[in-house]
Amino acid sequence: MEIRLAAPLQRDSVVDGFGVRTVIWTQGCSHNCPFCQNPQTHDFEGGCAFNVEDIKEELKNLTGQDGITLSGGDPLFQIDAVVEIAKYAKSIGLNVWCYTGFLYEDIVNMGKTNPKYLELLQYLDVLVDGKFVNELKSLNLLFRGSSNQRLIDVPQTLKAEKIVLIPESDGIIENFSKKNEKIFI
Ligand code: SF4
Repeated sequence: MEIRLAAPLQRDSVVDGFGVRTVIWTQGCSHNCPFCQNPQTHDFEGGCAFNVEDIKEELKNLTGQDGITLSGGDPLFQIDAVVEIAKYAKSIGLNVWCYTGFLYEDIVNMGKTNPKYLELLQYLDVLVDGKFVNELKSLNLLFRGSSNQRLIDVPQTLKAEKIVLIPESDGIIENFSKKNEKIFI
């Protein structure tokens, strides 16, 4: 199985979720958010094709990373490959964040016709959902560009069967990760 990526894996990011992360920049997006900062990732024929098995091998050899972040582009346009990667990342102890222009509710609806979308949710720790809205842009937001976008605690959302957001207060995020750390930013 292949996946189109906009770039090779990017290690050591500290701005794409809690901790130190490896970002997987997927290629392809049709949401067309005005003022998108990554327009080069929109073309579904752009970027390069990578073998998912090679990506998994690269993940296996990572050191010093807390997790992976699926970004783009929109990872959900390559759902089969993204599920495979997210499942593998979880199996080797990496937590998984995913950015998407879809809403959580959209993903649940898409899951009614393609269960892969629901399967992906099983492997996510955090979903950052919604399109970028320039009018709602703020530099004070954590890990997202506009205030309509949500930091969704996916395991708690699945458990509660309603949207549960990551708590934020005064610049301190209570990290819900297995390490139970507090991240000060
Ligand atoms: S979803 Fe992301 S990549 Fe796609 S147009 Fe919107 S901001 Fe750009």
